[in-house]
Amino acid sequence: MDDRELYRQILGVNEPWRVARVELERAAGEIHVFLEHDEQTRWRCPECDADCALYDHQPERRWRHLDTCQYRTILHAQPPRSDCPEHGPRVVRLPWAEAGSRFTALFEALAIAWLREASQSGVAELLRLSWDEVHGILERAVRRGLQRRQAEPLPRLGVDEKSFRKRHRYLTVVNDLDRGRVLYVAEGRRQASLDGFWGTLTAEQLAGVEAVAMDMWDPYVASTRAHLDGAEDKIVYDKFHIAQHLANAVDQVRRAENKELRAAGDDQLKGSKYTWLRHPASFSEAAWREFRELREADLKTARAWALKETAMRLFDYRYVGAARRFFELWSSWASRSRLQPILKVGRMLRSRLHNILTYLKHRITNAASEAINSRIQWVKATARGFRNQQNFITAIYFHCGGLDLDPASATH
Ligand SMILES: [Zn+2]
Repeated sequence: MDDRELYRQILGVNEPWRVARVELERAAGEIHVFLEHDEQTRWRCPECDADCALYDHQPERRWRHLDTCQYRTILHAQPPRSDCPEHGPRVVRLPWAEAGSRFTALFEALAIAWLREASQSGVAELLRLSWDEVHGILERAVRRGLQRRQAEPLPRLGVDEKSFRKRHRYLTVVNDLDRGRVLYVAEGRRQASLDGFWGTLTAEQLAGVEAVAMDMWDPYVASTRAHLDGAEDKIVYDKFHIAQHLANAVDQVRRAENKELRAAGDDQLKGSKYTWLRHPASFSEAAWREFRELREADLKTARAWALKETAMRLFDYRYVGAARRFFELWSSWASRSRLQPILKVGRMLRSRLHNILTYLKHRITNAASEAINSRIQWVKATARGFRNQQNFITAIYFHCGGLDLDPASATH
């Protein structure tokens, strides 16, 4: 077998293409493979698939291919143009690469496979590419994946915010809670940040949205109301976000009380911050005994903690009526406690009670996006090379979008 036949088989080059010659540049560590086609070939118009004669050739182009034995392997060819009676001269589709790419489809598929596991700079080094080349492959993959997305039903959504870097910059992330994937990412956490998402849905998808989990964040509420019929009964405030508000209130009470006690020489609350924030189920028996003493002491912090734990029982109810009666009881207990931070959260819960209790019907939280969140954390941690927010957004789609990313000619 001569080297041309060897490369024809390795590259999977088929009629009408053949390998005209192979050149080894040992010093540069490169192998150059020159492709040509038969004279008499007819070509398909890329617009209408009509059978056409050859119009002319474009100047020679190069495509980086998978290495052969550590040698960078580069394909060369002159892309033909078809002579379509209807569309005129058009560059034909080439079987080894997507239009506009400087890499063969197999090379892109390899880079994409590596990018799923390693950082962009790691892949750049491994494949001897520049960071920009790697990012270009990633961007094209995401564009392809988003274009291939079908308009599937999206009954349960989660809207979440992500902080980006330290300067209080945020991203809005919309998750498909049923399939555990990111549907949409936008800069900021304003109403407009979420508005863009609704525009990506078909009328049918919009009508099929049954519930949306979110923080008690008014811009998201306003956007959802503006775009979703019956939003009033579909918005579900995230249970864990509510628990977070209550935990912060307990902590404020503890800090104030600790200060008072220590001024009077009493150290019993010192160092207890995380004890009050932990879930009791994670206590050892000894820690539990110690905590019980704290709880049973006549402390404001103990009352705040009990109010918090009790409030969360709201989510155990099955019926809205019973849950509302329970909330009234809790509320009057909370007001007698005179603990300002708790009262403040209590007022917030009351004003938003309708969309807290929609949980009893829909049973969704943003915790369903935990797997996505930890993946986003990983993207962020490996993201030292991200020069702007848009690059970070692209990487989130790549890793968390559940997209079909491979170039068409590598797989079909
Ligand atoms: Zn045509």
